[in-house]
Amino acid sequence: MLKEELLSKGYKAYENDEIYVFWNPDLCVHAAECIRGNSEVFDVSRRPWVDVSKAPASEIAAIIDKCPSGALKYELK
Ligand code: SF4
Repeated sequence: MLKEELLSKGYKAYENDEIYVFWNPDLCVHAAECIRGNSEVFDVSRRPWVDVSKAPASEIAAIIDKCPSGALKYELK
């Protein structure tokens, strides 16, 4: 399963009923595409900084598709 694979590679996981979001701080290049996409889902001043309850899973997935580094990944449930 993608989740186990990514967790073993250092990704952190955030989830709700519709989507898993994974983030790897070692890969993040801080291009901020994610924050430009939706600053309520992705808010670096908050812990945890990813809140998947703030937008529909389809919107979150579309934003993650723009992450240039592969630091953000997702799996729809
Ligand atoms: S878009 Fe990807 S690389 Fe850029 S800040 Fe967000 S997670 Fe990091």
